[in-house]
Amino acid sequence: MNRYEFLVIGSGPAGQRAAIQAAKLGKKVAIIERKTAIGGVSVHTGTIPSKTLRQAVLYLTGWDQRGLYGQGYRLKKNLTIDDLMQRVHITLQHEIEVMQHQLARNGVNIIEGSASFIDANRLQVESAQGDIQEFYGEKILIAVGTRPIRSPDISFDNETIIDSDGILNLKRIPRSMTIIGAGVIGAEYASIFNTMDIKVTLVDGRATLLDFLDRELVDEFLHHLRDNGTMIRLNEKVAKVEHNDNGQVLTWLESGKCLRSDIVMFAAGRMGCTYSLKLENAGLESDERRRLKVNQNFQTKIPHIYAAGDVIGFPSLASTSMEQGRLAACHAFNHPASSQPGHFPFGVYAVPEMSMVGMTEQELTADKIPYEVGIARLRETARGQIMGLSEGILKILFSLKDRRVLGVHILGEGATELIHIGQATLVLGGTLDYFIENVFNYPTLAEAYKVAALDAWNRMAT
Ligand SMILES: Cc1cc2nc3c(=O)[nH]c(=O)nc-3n(C[C@H](O)[C@H](O)[C@H](O)COP(=O)(O)OP(=O)(O)OC[C@H]3O[C@@H](n4cnc5c(N)ncnc54)[C@H](O)[C@@H]3O)c2cc1C
Repeated sequence: MNRYEFLVIGSGPAGQRAAIQAAKLGKKVAIIERKTAIGGVSVHTGTIPSKTLRQAVLYLTGWDQRGLYGQGYRLKKNLTIDDLMQRVHITLQHEIEVMQHQLARNGVNIIEGSASFIDANRLQVESAQGDIQEFYGEKILIAVGTRPIRSPDISFDNETIIDSDGILNLKRIPRSMTIIGAGVIGAEYASIFNTMDIKVTLVDGRATLLDFLDRELVDEFLHHLRDNGTMIRLNEKVAKVEHNDNGQVLTWLESGKCLRSDIVMFAAGRMGCTYSLKLENAGLESDERRRLKVNQNFQTKIPHIYAAGDVIGFPSLASTSMEQGRLAACHAFNHPASSQPGHFPFGVYAVPEMSMVGMTEQELTADKIPYEVGIARLRETARGQIMGLSEGILKILFSLKDRRVLGVHILGEGATELIHIGQATLVLGGTLDYFIENVFNYPTLAEAYKVAALDAWNRMAT
């Protein structure tokens, strides 16, 4: 039998990072992956393709130049799906090669096939050709990720009625689109497609969206979407989805409204990929969304079986999945490791981008923590002017007790990069004075931190 000290099921961000960490600790490690290419949802249908698509759209539509050259500016007219997908394919191929090298350099074996438990230490792996092998793992990590939930009441045809994976198989750019589900994925795609002048309607049963973000940022984002022509239908439940005689899709809402569009994308949640693992053979069970419960060390109730990444639920990000994988591997092999879960950044790669770290105004108010807010508009910086930015806000929340940074919230160009200045300040216990007393490169968008700090200081001083 093939014996390993660490067997990882799934080659997404959680599995890869865990495998490399264990290999660096000198362990014999293998990753089992059922797809022919490694990388998981992150590389094949999620993070990298959606962010590459976004980048291609911003570039080819000339969106980021319109502040300077006018709303009618387009770098390329009559965009085709091939224009967009070409960039996606190049990026994905490169990303897979980088990962393969990384795993090979660290001596991590890749076993191709679908894994299921025989018992708590033995896994059966069935290849696409039907060959079966058995492996023994002293420690095992389940990092199988999630897949989109499909409502049984909707007849998906993978062309006009799709889930978020289906975006990458589109044959042509639609003229109109209904997106059901205004979570991160729905909101990102709504704004990306909207940027291509596609008529987008975003529907959600909840009254608000992206509740983990600062309310002011979300309000700005909604204003931007509406300003660009996106129709937002909140507090609306979908009754049925069907085709009309012209091949268009009709989305009927329980309120009686009917939304007509070329395609419908269903993005109302994801569920764990544990269905074929035969968890019961290892003494494990999943919840109603097929996810696994773990303790603070990422151990399941069987102590030598760990789980990390999307399969354990919130926050379900590639960034946090990697960190969970690293921590799980360190714990499995008694290697000291720590992390700052309270200071994880959140990035929403919509158009415009949004990112946050630390506490929101809502949380501080609920916890009765006195704070002052400093706000800068990105257009107030010289760099913002040079770039022709018409939107963008950077907001810092400072403690009124000791002037420490409590939270940073950014909407606009570069938000997901800029947030890391705020994160470093927050983690290192920095105060408002850091931003006032230090020189920032000029012209930069980072200068907005200084403007926001001075704004808060003005208010604190009076
Ligand atoms: C559209 C979209 C956009 C996203 N954008 C972002 C973003 O901008 N930033 C961000 O941080 N996150 C983003 N995410 C989330 C991110 O992709 C996930 O958090 C991340 O991929 C989870 O990593 P993971 O390792 O848990 O699982 P996955 O990446 O899902 O990988 C799991 C792997 O396990 C394999 N597997 C499953 N079952 C078995 C089995 N039985 N045997 C063998 N192999 C198996 C699968 O084939 C897969 O390769 C996005 C997700 C989506 C869908």
